[in-house]
Amino acid sequence: MSSRSSSEQDADVIVVGAGPAGSTAATYLARAGVDVLLLEKSTFPRDKVCGDGLTPRGVKQLIDLGIDTSEEAGWVHSRGLRILTNELTLELDWPELTSYPPYGVSRTRHDFDELLARTAQRAGARLVERATVNGAITDERSGRVIGVNAKLGEEREPASYRAPLVLACDGVSARLALSVGIEKRDSRPMGVAVRRYYRSPRHTDPFIEGHLELWDRSDPRDPKLLPGYGWAFPLGDGTVNVGLGMLSTSKAFRSTDYRALMRSWLDSTPEEWGFRECNATGKIGGAGLPMGFNRTPHYRDGLLLLGDAGGMVSPFNGEGIPSAMESAKLAAEHVVQALARPEGPSRERALRGYPATLSDLMGGYYRLGNLFAKLIGKPRIMRAATKYGLRINPLIPLVYKGLSGCYDPKDGDVVDRIVATAARLAPSVS
Ligand SMILES: Cc1cc2nc3c(=O)[nH]c(=O)nc-3n(C[C@H](O)[C@H](O)[C@H](O)COP(=O)(O)OP(=O)(O)OC[C@H]3O[C@@H](n4cnc5c(N)ncnc54)[C@H](O)[C@@H]3O)c2cc1C
Repeated sequence: MSSRSSSEQDADVIVVGAGPAGSTAATYLARAGVDVLLLEKSTFPRDKVCGDGLTPRGVKQLIDLGIDTSEEAGWVHSRGLRILTNELTLELDWPELTSYPPYGVSRTRHDFDELLARTAQRAGARLVERATVNGAITDERSGRVIGVNAKLGEEREPASYRAPLVLACDGVSARLALSVGIEKRDSRPMGVAVRRYYRSPRHTDPFIEGHLELWDRSDPRDPKLLPGYGWAFPLGDGTVNVGLGMLSTSKAFRSTDYRALMRSWLDSTPEEWGFRECNATGKIGGAGLPMGFNRTPHYRDGLLLLGDAGGMVSPFNGEGIPSAMESAKLAAEHVVQALARPEGPSRERALRGYPATLSDLMGGYYRLGNLFAKLIGKPRIMRAATKYGLRINPLIPLVYKGLSGCYDPKDGDVVDRIVATAARLAPSVS
C-alpha cells in the first residue's frame, strides 16, 4: 500500500502516541500493508500511571492481536473479581461467555506498553520515539488535517510529517484534538485516579479486588466513610498495584487531596496486607480518566480520535485499555477501507463509518454508564446500593456483568440480554 505514498507525504497514516490505542492501531494497519508512522513522545520502556489490570474484555483484544497471554509469557492471571464493602465480601469468577475468555490479566504498563509498541514495529510500523507532537497541520483551503508538527529528540528539533490520515492516540491530554478545536464535553463524567505499588503477601491473590467503599478507621469508635472507590491488583512479582479513584459527579471531586485520601484509606486496611508506607515502592502517581465519550466527534476532516483522546474510559469501572484497543481495531478497519478508495466523498463515507460503528459498540453502554456515574455520585444512593443491593442474590450477576462490561451482547443468557437491552435503551444524558 505504501506505493500510494506521493512525494509530499511521509506515510499513508500518522499515528500519534504509542499507548494501547496507538500501538494496536499501528499493528493492524501495518499488517494490512499500510505505511504507518508511529510518533511517541517518550522512549520505551516507560512507566504510565495505571491500575495495570485487564478484565476478560481487554484480554480478548490481546488475543486478537496474536499476543501470547499465558502465565508462562509473563502475564498474571485473575480468575475473577472480589468486591468488598464494609458489610460484605463477594468473590465472583469471570463469567463463561462466547465473546470473552474466562480470565483477566495484570502486567505493569512498563512492560505492557513496550510489548505492544514492539508488536507494532514487528508488523512494520515505523516507530519514532522522543517525537512530541504539538499540533495538527491543516490544509488552509479545506481545513483538513494533512499532517502534524513535532519536536524531536533531546534538542527538540522542529519537524513536520504529512499523511492523508492522522490518528490521535495521545491519551487524556488530547493535544492533537485540541489543536483543531475538538474540546472536552463537560456534561460527560471525568474521573481522577491515583495508584502506588506495595510489597505485599497478597501479590499472588487469584482475584483482582474492587473496594466499593473506603473507610478511615483511625478512630475505631467512629469509622468514617471516605469518598471514592479503590482497587488492589496483584502483580505476582511481590507487589500489588493499589489505587483509588473518584468521579466528577461526586461533590468531593475537586476539593480532595488524593494522596492524603489514599493514606487515610490504606492505613485503615489490615496490617498484614502490607499496604503501608514502609512497603511502598515508588511514589503515588495520578492522572485523569476521560469517560463516556467526553470528546467528540471521533472523526472529522482526516483526524480520528481513539482511546483516551476520544474519552473512552468506561464510566462503570474506570477501565480504558480494552476500549482503547477496541477503538484501534475499528479505526484500522475503516482506515484500510478508506485508503483503498479515491480521495473525496467515497473515502469520507468509509471514514464516517468509524464513529458510527464505535457508537454501535460502546455508545449505549456508555450512555448507561454516564447515568450510573450520576447516581453513584450521590453518597446516599451509593451507600444504599452497596448496603442492600448487593444482598439481593439475583441482582449480583447483573451488577457484576454490567460493571465489568463482560457480557455477550447478542447470544448471551438472560442477564446479558438485560444489560444489552438497557444499554440500547439508555437515554442520552447530555
Ligand atoms: C490511576 C489510573 C489507573 C487506571 N487503571 C486502569 C486499569 O487497571 N485498567 C484499564 O483498562 N485502564 C486503567 N486506566 C485507564 C488507562 O490507563 C487508559 O484508559 C489507557 O491507558 C488509554 O490508552 P491510550 O492508548 O488511549 O492512551 P495512553 O495510554 O495515555 O497513551 C498515550 C500515548 O501517547 C503519548 N503521547 C501523549 N502526548 C503525546 C504527544 N503530544 N506527542 C507524542 N506522543 C504523545 C504518551 O506518551 C503515551 O504513550 C487507569 C488510569 C489511571 C489514571
